[in-house]
Amino acid sequence: MLFVNPDAHSNRDIPNLSLAYAATYFKSRVIDYNTLPEPINRLYTGETDILGVSIQSRSYSHANSIKRKYEELFPDATVKSINGFMDVLCCYPFLQWDDTLNFDVPFSDELPFPEYERFDSFDTFFKNWKSGHWHYPVVTSLGCPFLCTYCASRNRKWISRSPENCVKELKQAKEAIKAEAVELAMELAEKKLKEKLTKEEQEKLLEDSLTKIGGKG
Ligand code: SF4
Repeated sequence: MLFVNPDAHSNRDIPNLSLAYAATYFKSRVIDYNTLPEPINRLYTGETDILGVSIQSRSYSHANSIKRKYEELFPDATVKSINGFMDVLCCYPFLQWDDTLNFDVPFSDELPFPEYERFDSFDTFFKNWKSGHWHYPVVTSLGCPFLCTYCASRNRKWISRSPENCVKELKQAKEAIKAEAVELAMELAEKKLKEKLTKEEQEKLLEDSLTKIGGKG
């Protein structure tokens, strides 16, 4: 099994978070054309049994051309869309073909943290996270009560992970990246959690801390 993130020509500094969770769950590698557009033919150097393509409206045309070319080169392979609990990223909804691989797991503290090293663009992410040039992403919640007309997330039920679980993920990122910005946000969030705040206060504090490093999902 192999996953691919087609080129959306935007938000190159943000991993496809839906695909990151799916790749971690299925233990799959990801060819990431959005952050690493070249070399364009690297997907076609070997055959896999199932190719999972993560599709958004902004990458729909590239996703379709990948499907056509892969099926032509490897007629025995199955090319499917891949979809999971995250149905929107950066305002754009995820789409699916008739044949889709459903990552049917609820968003909760039980999920393993996304393993971004599964992306072949990981070195680019790592270098930019470490230098503080790009923000390390943490998906703290899904949905949004606001009504921005251009955004597919608008007016949807808000669900979140616990602050403790988010801090655990930040701690892990701190160990791996050793970046000052991650360290600062993590220490602030952890310190405040120890002050026995109410759940609402913890969530507000975590949100503020994550905003410092642009970590709001
Ligand atoms: S505030 Fe909510 S609806 Fe508006 S862009 Fe952000 S996520 Fe989308």
